[in-house]
Formats: sequence, structure tokens, C-alpha cells
Amino acid sequence: MAESTLSNFIGGAWVPAAEGRTDEVIDPSTGAVIAQVASSTAVDVDRAVAAAAEAFEGWRAQTPGERGLALLRLADRIEEHAEELQAIESQNVGKPISAVPDELPFIVDNFRFFAGAARALTTQAPGEYLAGYTSFLRREPLGVVASIAPWNYPLMMTAWKIGPALAAGNTVVLKPSELTPLTALRLAELASDLFPPGVLNVVTGQGETAGAPLVAHPQVAMVSLTGEVTTGKIILRAAADTLKRVHLELGGKAPVVVFDDADVEAVVAGVKLFGYYNAGQDCTAACRVLAGPGVYDDVVGGLAGAAAGLKVGPTTDPDTELGPVVSADQLERVSGLVDRAVAAGAEVVTGGSAVGGDGFYYRPSVLAGVGQDSEIVQREVFGPVVTVQPFADEEQAVAWANGVDYGLAASVWTGDVGRALRMSRALHFGTVWVNDHGPLVPEMPHGGFKQSGFGKDMSIAALEDYTELKHVMIKTD
Ligand code: NAD
Repeated sequence: MAESTLSNFIGGAWVPAAEGRTDEVIDPSTGAVIAQVASSTAVDVDRAVAAAAEAFEGWRAQTPGERGLALLRLADRIEEHAEELQAIESQNVGKPISAVPDELPFIVDNFRFFAGAARALTTQAPGEYLAGYTSFLRREPLGVVASIAPWNYPLMMTAWKIGPALAAGNTVVLKPSELTPLTALRLAELASDLFPPGVLNVVTGQGETAGAPLVAHPQVAMVSLTGEVTTGKIILRAAADTLKRVHLELGGKAPVVVFDDADVEAVVAGVKLFGYYNAGQDCTAACRVLAGPGVYDDVVGGLAGAAAGLKVGPTTDPDTELGPVVSADQLERVSGLVDRAVAAGAEVVTGGSAVGGDGFYYRPSVLAGVGQDSEIVQREVFGPVVTVQPFADEEQAVAWANGVDYGLAASVWTGDVGRALRMSRALHFGTVWVNDHGPLVPEMPHGGFKQSGFGKDMSIAALEDYTELKHVMIKTD
């Protein structure tokens, strides 16, 4: 993409930032500037919220079928422009070009799911719960929803946020990550003739200057954030002043619990894919392997070979399996975490350092000899780094798997059905996979326990999160 300057999308028009400032957008595989986007402030946020508030009554008045049709058309539009969107996402996030095509059909399918789900909301049966009165429930949209997205899956997170919000009859102000705003802006352009002006607005900019005024805005009814735990806490506190509904999809530190009766080859293949996909910058990344005493050596050896065999290279090369991390800051963060782990006694089985040169590349890494209480086990790395710990028995596996602040996703690998069932109950995470790690479907909810947040993405549960229940009680006698 040639370097270009992109405006906000507000009320159906392209509007530069009021203060005229822009932020640079970088290609993480080279470090080169590829675009300039509006660096928005409270004035821009006010404009976008006003446009969304004005559009709300008209949009909620459309039938679920009409709103669903607009989302179906958006899904078709994305599908028609899949190659272009993949190329933008690949360049902006640093995803290997061979990997992004796997994400687009899922994004399209999410919009199609919410298009249909809009027409199938349910509540408790109406009835005479008090003699002489009939009660029924309405599911109402909330109003203007602020959708604040992260950089690791910019287009997918946009779909997870705007799909249910719009389907339920809300209007949206979307603030993409300052690092990766390009596909959200292109999506707004592709959608510009599909929704009435103001239904979908995109405001770019930094968290503190564009995100914070959006969270504080009195006309915003709900804030939906996908981001770091620390950002979630800041937003939760800020939203308290206006008592907004808050929906938080935060970080993760997914355990991969491998019992002695597991298929080690399948474990290695699964971690190779979901530990290093998107350079490990995935909230559900298979990053924390816990292996039984009988398989520990095979797991470490298998993972070392698999990680070392990943082809690291330019994102445009179709053979590349592992791209860069998203920014210089992220590279420094990953390097710092690994260096401190090594200083604390961790063994680098493979990788353990930055590649060097242009771009923000870190070698695919496996670390062993890490303690349960160590920083590398307790904190989200968000890089191509997998740790492996040996556990003694099922009790210790459960204690260690659950022994972090996060609770987003976990996997258990075993040939024993009874153990799989026990573990799926004992693991305190929003998603538990058995003998796999990573796959998701739009029909099922995705969301965290503990400090991974609350509220669900995808599924009818997400659609319900973007509505509020109203009890109507009619005196009949
Ligand atoms: P981040 O928290 O740094 O930023 C997320 C968004 O919040 C950005 O748009 C940012 O500009 C905005 N923001 C930052 N400070 C703000 C403030 N004070 N007020 C309002 N908005 C503010 O997160 P990130 O680094 O972009 O994304 C990575 C994180 O996202 C990881 O922790 C990852 O686990 C998490 N994540 C979670 C899920 C999930 O489903 N649970 C999915 C993807 C990513």
C-alpha cells in the first residue's frame, strides 16, 4: 500500500481529525510507514457519538430482518474484497500472507451468523405471573455502543464487536487500535452504502486521547473493549462515572495440559499451530504447556523441533509461517520477558532472541525449567514463546493450570474420557478444548473468566449482551 492519509468515518462521511494531527501506521515486517490516520481527540469523538446518537432511533426501528439483510450484504462485500482485505491485514499486522486467508471466511461467517441471530432473539414466555396482569419482556438495544479493538485480529475483532451490536439495533462508534486501523477503515468504506449514515462510525487514534473520551462520553451507553487486562481496569473505572455497561475481552495465558496417555504428535502439531499462529499474539495462544512425567521429554523435544522448523520470513512470502510481532515496543516486551526468565533460571530449548535487522521479528521459542510462580508463566507474553512445565499428577496439573490471574481458554490432551470430563469441569476458563486447541465457531460463546474479563463474543449470548431486558406489565382487569 502506498502511504496515504486516512480520515475518520463519521455520519457517513470522511472527516479529518479536528486538530489536524495524524498517527503513523507501520508495516511491522519492515518498520516502514505505510499510512497516516487521523489522530482523534474529544472533538472528533463528540462528532461521532452525535452521529451515532442521531442514527439510533431510525436504526432500531428497522425490523430485525432489515438489519440482518444489511449485515448479510456486508458479509458478501467482505467476501468480494477478501483478497484486498487480506493484503491490508497482512501488511498492517505482520501476518504471513498464507495465514490471513484462514481468517476471512470466519469473519464473513460471523456477520452471517449475527444477521440470522438478529431475527431469533428469545425471552421467557409472556404470562399472568400476577392475577390480573400480563407480563412480557422486550429485548431493547442500548443506544450508542463504543467498540474499542486491539491490534492482533483487527478485522475479526471488528466483526465480533459490530456484528452483534448492530444486529441488536445499536449504533456504533468503533475505535480500532492505533497500530492497526487500516482494515476497519476499509470496512467502513465498503459498508458506507449498506447502513444509514451514523449507524457505523470509525474514529482512529490513541487510547488516551481518542479511546478515553469515548469511554467517558455521556451519550455512550455501553463500552466493549478487547485489549489488555490493565486497559480493561482503566476502562471499568472510567465507565463507573456514567455507570455504563462494560463488556471486556481481555488477555489470556492458556494452559495446554498433556497427560501421559495423550497423542504427543497431535499435541506438538497443535502447539506448533496455535502457540505460534500470529507470532503468538493471540489471547488463546497455546503458550503454557503442562506435561505429565511420562511424556514431558517427548513433548519438549517435539516442540523444540517444531518451533525451530517454522519458517520465519517476509509476510509477503507465501512460504512464511511466522511473521514479526506488531511493533518495536512489543518486540522489546517479548525480549524483556524472555531475558528475565533466563536470568531467573529458565532453559532456552530453542529461540530466545530477536532476529535483528529490519522488522520486529522474534525467533520461535521454547523455554523449559520455568517455575509456576515465575513472571514468564504468570504474565501474558504475546509473542512466539511457549513454556513447558512437568507436572506430577492430575491434582497438580489442575492447580497449575488454574494458578494464573487469567481464565480465557485451556486445552486438555488425554485418551481417557473420564479424565477429559473431570478436567473440563475443573479447568476455570471460558473455553476448554479436549484433544485440540484453538478452533472457534460463531454459534458458541467466547469470553473470559477471572481477569480475562466478562461478557461474551459470538453466539446468541453476545447478541444478548448488546441488549437490555424490559419488563412490560399490563393490568388486564
Ligand atoms: P490494549 O489494551 O493496549 O489496547 C486495546 C484498545 O484499547 C486499543 O484500541 C487502545 O487504543 C485502547 N485503549 C488503550 N488505553 C485506553 C484508554 N485509557 N481508554 C480507552 N481506550 C484505550 O491492547 P492491545 O495491545 O491492542 O491488544 C492486545 C491485548 O488484547 C492482549 O492482552 C490480548 O490478550 C487481548 N485480546 C483479547 C481477546 C479476547 O477475546 N479475550 C482477543 C484479542 C486480544
